[in-house]
Amino acid sequence: MTATVWTNATVVTCDPQNTVADAVAFDGGRIVAVGREDEVRSSVGPGGEVVDLDGATVLPGLIDTHPHLMHFGALAEPLVEWIMTTPVGEPHYFLRRSYRDLAEGTLPDRTTLDRAVPRHPVFIQAWAPVTPNLCAMNSMALERLGITRDTPDRVENVWVEKDEIGEPTGRLRGSVTNYYSDSEFMNDLLRRMPVLQGDALVPGTERAMQTANQLGVTTIYEGHLMAFSLIEVYRWMRNEGRLTTRVLCSPEAETFGVPWSEPPLDLDDYVARLARAEALVDHSDEMFRIDGVTVSRYGPCGPGFILMRDPYLGPYGETTTGRSFVSPDKIEAAIRHCDQHDLRLNVVTAGTAEGDHLLDQLEALKHRPATTDGRSWVLQNFYFADPDRVRRVAALGLAVTTSMSFSWGKGELVRQRFGEHLLEDLIPLARLAEAGIHVGCGTDWGRGACRSFPCCVATGGWPRR
Ligand SMILES: [Zn+2]
Repeated sequence: MTATVWTNATVVTCDPQNTVADAVAFDGGRIVAVGREDEVRSSVGPGGEVVDLDGATVLPGLIDTHPHLMHFGALAEPLVEWIMTTPVGEPHYFLRRSYRDLAEGTLPDRTTLDRAVPRHPVFIQAWAPVTPNLCAMNSMALERLGITRDTPDRVENVWVEKDEIGEPTGRLRGSVTNYYSDSEFMNDLLRRMPVLQGDALVPGTERAMQTANQLGVTTIYEGHLMAFSLIEVYRWMRNEGRLTTRVLCSPEAETFGVPWSEPPLDLDDYVARLARAEALVDHSDEMFRIDGVTVSRYGPCGPGFILMRDPYLGPYGETTTGRSFVSPDKIEAAIRHCDQHDLRLNVVTAGTAEGDHLLDQLEALKHRPATTDGRSWVLQNFYFADPDRVRRVAALGLAVTTSMSFSWGKGELVRQRFGEHLLEDLIPLARLAEAGIHVGCGTDWGRGACRSFPCCVATGGWPRR
C-alpha cells in the first residue's frame, strides 16, 4: 500500500464518540486508517509518504446545507459594461449596518456617481431581505432603464426620488431589493440589467467553490431556488471536471420571488414538475447527485411575506399575516407524490402558520415520511421551533437544515416585526439537538461573503447528547 500518513495531528473525527486521533492515513482520496500514530503506521505498512503536521487540526470536510453557491457566485462576478456593487454595509444580509451608517446617511446621487464613473452604467444594489431599502444609479443606468422626469414619483411601493427641478436623482426607495422585491416595476428594471447572467454562472460558481474549499467546505447541498436549468449547469461542470466540492441538488418545483420567476403553475403542471424531479434522481456519482424535490410557500419577513399565525407589521407599517406564493394544495400534492413515488421531500418552512399547517399535512400521512432506504425528509430553515413544533418534527423523524444567520443576522428584524417573545423560538439548536433531530447547518449565502461562514456551517456538527 502507498498510503500517505499524516502524523502529529489533532484529528477531530466527529465519530459518535467524538474521538480525537493523532494520525490519519489516506490512499486514492479515501481515508484508510485513523487512530494513534503507531496503530495507523502499522496498519498501512511502510512505503508511503509520512507528513508531520506539527499539531495542526484536521477536520472532516464541512457540508454547507444551504449555500446558494451558484446564485451568489454568479451575482458576484464582474461584468463587462455595467458596474454593480453590493449594498453598503455588513453582509450577510446587510441588515446590521447599511447606507444609513454612512456619514451622509444615504447613497450617492447620480451627479456624484457620474463624476466617478461617466462611461459605464452603475447600479448600487439593494439585496433582500431589507424592505424598505435604497438603491442608486448613475445617469447612464437611468438612461438605459428609461427612468426620466416623466417616470411617476411613485410606482407601486417604489419611490423614484426627484430633485427640485423634477429630474430623477438616481435613488430609488422602497421595495427595491434584487429579489423578493414584490414590485413588478422593480422586477422589470432588474430583468433589463445583467443581474444574474448566464455567462457568469460557471466562473462565478467556480470561484465560490474555491472560497468554500478554503473555508473547509467540501460538500454543498443546493436545495433552494434551484431551477432545473441551474442543475444542468452543475451537471455540465461535473462532466467537465470543474467541481471542487461535492454537489447535491434538489430542484425546486416552483420558484418565486426572483425577478425572472415564472407565473404560478396550475396544479397539473405542478405535479408534472414533481414527476420531472423524480426522473432526475441519481445517486450513482459521489461528486454530483440529484435527489428529491423542494417545495416552499413563503418569502422572508423583511417584505412581509413570512406566513405567521398572528398579524404582524409589514415593511410599510401595514398589518399582514404574510403571503402564500405556492398554494397549500400544491404542498399537499407534493407530500402525496413524494410518499407514493419514494421521492425525498424538502420543504422550506419558517412561519408559525405555515409550519403548523405543514406539520398537520405531514401527520395526516399516518406514518413517518422517509424514503424506503431510510433517509428522512428534510425541513429547510425552520425558523420558529417552539417546543410543540420540535416535538412534532422529532416524532415525524424529519431532518432539519437551518442557518444561525437567521438568529444573528435577522434576529433584530424578528424582534421588530413579531415581538420579543418569538426570539426564544428562533433557531434553538440545542432544543432541536436534544429532541434527537438531525440538524445540518448552512449559510443561506454564497461565496463566503459572510465572516461567520465557517461557524454557520460548523455549528451543524454539534454532538448530540
Ligand atoms: Zn435559501
